[in-house]
Amino acid sequence: MAGIDLESFASIREANIMKLKEFKQNGGKVVGRYCTYTPNELILAAGAIPVGLCGTSEKPIPAAEEVLPRNLCPLIKSSYGFAATDTCPFFYFSDFILGETTCDGKKKMFELMQEIKPVHVMQLPYADYEHALDMWTEELRRLRKRIEDEFGVKISDDDIWKATDLVNRETVALKALCDLNQSDPPYLSGIDLLTVMWARSFNCDHEELISMLQELEKQILASPADPAKSGARILLTGCPVGTGTEKVIKLVEELGASVVAMENCSGYKTLELQTEQSFNDPIVALAHKYLNIPCSCMSPNPYRMELLDRMIDDFQTDAVIDLTWQACHTYNIEAFEVGKLVKSKGLPYLHLESDYSNSDLESLKVRIEAMLEMVEK
Ligand code: SF4
Ligand code: SF4
Repeated sequence: MAGIDLESFASIREANIMKLKEFKQNGGKVVGRYCTYTPNELILAAGAIPVGLCGTSEKPIPAAEEVLPRNLCPLIKSSYGFAATDTCPFFYFSDFILGETTCDGKKKMFELMQEIKPVHVMQLPYADYEHALDMWTEELRRLRKRIEDEFGVKISDDDIWKATDLVNRETVALKALCDLNQSDPPYLSGIDLLTVMWARSFNCDHEELISMLQELEKQILASPADPAKSGARILLTGCPVGTGTEKVIKLVEELGASVVAMENCSGYKTLELQTEQSFNDPIVALAHKYLNIPCSCMSPNPYRMELLDRMIDDFQTDAVIDLTWQACHTYNIEAFEVGKLVKSKGLPYLHLESDYSNSDLESLKVRIEAMLEMVEK
């Protein structure tokens, strides 16, 4: 696959709207999803396409606020706003919506969304609960049945194993690309990293995405890393960030530093997780994988601290920025533990709370600038 560059990833969303339209016209089925706990493998095994629907635009928020409270996370309001105004083609093409009981705001939002489209909600247990694995395995079986009934198909174990192999390979390719930034200077800017990572949820063809990622990695390695990117190395953690909500990454890079890694859901959070093929039952294998996701909705959530600890070292991090979207209680509270960890490693830590507007750009800039002054480089 020749001629792959970052622009190819930036245009994935637009290109895939047309592909999805054609797929639907030919009788294809689409499942809309909002969270990394979604077992894409089950959707792919049914011959359907999973698409990401997380809202990253401020535009539909006023419409959402006609129904939802204003002091709610902007990600939820944006997502609901797109649904309510029917302005997201990916939502429009979705045959049903797959929700999950992660944070309170999202699970209550799904109750309202059922008035717009059919919604299936997965009941997610806390990973630490002794019956969690059994409960989550049953939830995945319930989802398998729902997809089969909804789309009139039979999902065989073999179909699921094939899909797990595909998703495992895609995860390896994504991780390899992210890991390029362990080098100093980094190969990719934070904005480039986000462009690639965010594009994946809009892609209909996973084999094609894997080839694109592998080709991009080859091309990046063929040219030397840019020494101009040798400023402070920042690790971004906290709430998911997407194209349209990248203001903190932009500010960091305008101030001469580089976001070398993102621990959040739009970044590295799930990239170490593979579906183990040694299980007899693919549903049990998937349950093990997805229950390990270190989201702040889990209580407790020790793997996030372990992951962050390792990432800080592996990516030669100089400072950590923890971004909480306004009214996201779980990430906001977990920021205390993250701060403790980062400070124990002798690094500057900055916790930012923001929303999707640009009204706080100046104050964010001042705070980031002050933190960068503390970085020893
Ligand atoms: S942060 Fe948690 S709730 Fe949000 S997408 Fe990630 S796993 Fe899902
Ligand atoms: S950012 Fe926080 S409040 Fe918003 S959807 Fe994710 S977990 Fe929920």
